Amino acid sequence: MKYIFSNSFQYAPSETGGMLYYSLNHNAPRVSFAEAAVKGQAPDKGLYFPRFIPELPKGFIDNIQAYSKEEIGFVVMKPYIGETITNTALQDIITETVNFNIPLVPINNHISSLELFHGPTLAFKDVGARFMSRCLGYFNKNNDKEVTVLVATSGDTGGAVANGFLGVEGIKVVILYPSGKVSRVQELQLTTLGKNITALEVEGTFDDCQNMVKQAFADIELNKRLLLTSANSINVARWLPQQLYYFYAYQQWQEKEPPVISVPSGNFGNICAGILANVSGLPVKHFIAACNSNKVVTQYLQSGNYEPQPAIPTISNAMDVGNPSNFIRIIEIFHQQFHELKSKVSSISVDDITTAQVIKKVFSTNNYLLDPHGAVAYYALENYCNTTNAKGFIVETAHPVKFAETVEKIIEEKVEIPTAINQLLSAEKQSIVIPPEFNALKEWLINQ
Ligand SMILES: *Cc1c(COP(=O)(O)O)cnc(C)c1O
Repeated sequence: MKYIFSNSFQYAPSETGGMLYYSLNHNAPRVSFAEAAVKGQAPDKGLYFPRFIPELPKGFIDNIQAYSKEEIGFVVMKPYIGETITNTALQDIITETVNFNIPLVPINNHISSLELFHGPTLAFKDVGARFMSRCLGYFNKNNDKEVTVLVATSGDTGGAVANGFLGVEGIKVVILYPSGKVSRVQELQLTTLGKNITALEVEGTFDDCQNMVKQAFADIELNKRLLLTSANSINVARWLPQQLYYFYAYQQWQEKEPPVISVPSGNFGNICAGILANVSGLPVKHFIAACNSNKVVTQYLQSGNYEPQPAIPTISNAMDVGNPSNFIRIIEIFHQQFHELKSKVSSISVDDITTAQVIKKVFSTNNYLLDPHGAVAYYALENYCNTTNAKGFIVETAHPVKFAETVEKIIEEKVEIPTAINQLLSAEKQSIVIPPEFNALKEWLINQ
């Protein structure tokens, strides 16, 4: 494979030798990509944000058809990485990150679906998790101390992170999940990998898992003994590579007018990456943040008041977030200018009944099966297209089979099971059951 960009493309600002990241709480030193990726969060608990948003090289978008997925990945990511990863290693990381199909599939005349569910865990989180895991493996390769990645999961994140880190040298992954509270497929994705991945089945809730992990990061003795790190979705190494598939979609976009893009949003990392790509030069007509009944951002865009709420459970449960952590990054991209933000991004809240109706309607009319998250995005986009006559695509974030129980009830038919899942269903679950107490986790971590 050839990478024509490695030496020929130059980015204007001199700082690209080492892009710096600042904390959005503005009370911590600026750091390199490497440090931001390893730390996850700034010491002042703020999210890291790049000091400037790079501009795409001239002519890149006009010629985008000519480039491979890997080449696009390199051009987009290089300025964010600076010299913290060598060009060859970055090329390898990108190649491994996007080694599955990311097709833009038409559903009808106005709406297409960017299918991000062809990766190993059938969810879009594979892209960010694969990139981050390989970066951490790279940064840790000269360190003789093993790193332990601790993650609490309510479902999709754990699987993507575990799979991303599987076999990465020098890194151990410990996943905490609430016993009996994740779907069968999700549980098997966490518990059947083996190697450097261990699943701790906690006899409690997701909140218990999350609290145990938080206590572990704050525990002085534990942090003296182990190099603990998190694989949280706010990590820049998970957030930034999510820009890539917006470029792959544009490569496949056939219309003259740029697309309207509807993104099913929970923590708003995905849509925020799309907006970043747009500011760098990717043509996008408009963004729609499609939300379920958790509508903090929808209400913010109406009223200008941001009021976090407790999360409400829905059938699109990966979006059940009452205080989206990445929203502050979107505000930063628009320089705190509410009106600029409002002219580029709109938001709508879609309830479960409507979501189910959409799944049923699109399946019977267009013979396309949406998952509940994609269905929320579809409704939002259709609504927008009806009033503006625009065309666009939804970001389909998960394969419907991951939510088979919900979807089968709605369409009153069995969902076809992909081969990867079939293999999983016959694999043997391996977990270690622990009580929902920090001391149980600590003891296990020390004695492992
Ligand atoms: C995580 C997730 C989302 C929400 O993505 P954010 O980046 O948190 O907005 C949407 N759909 C699925 C299937 C997910 O797993």
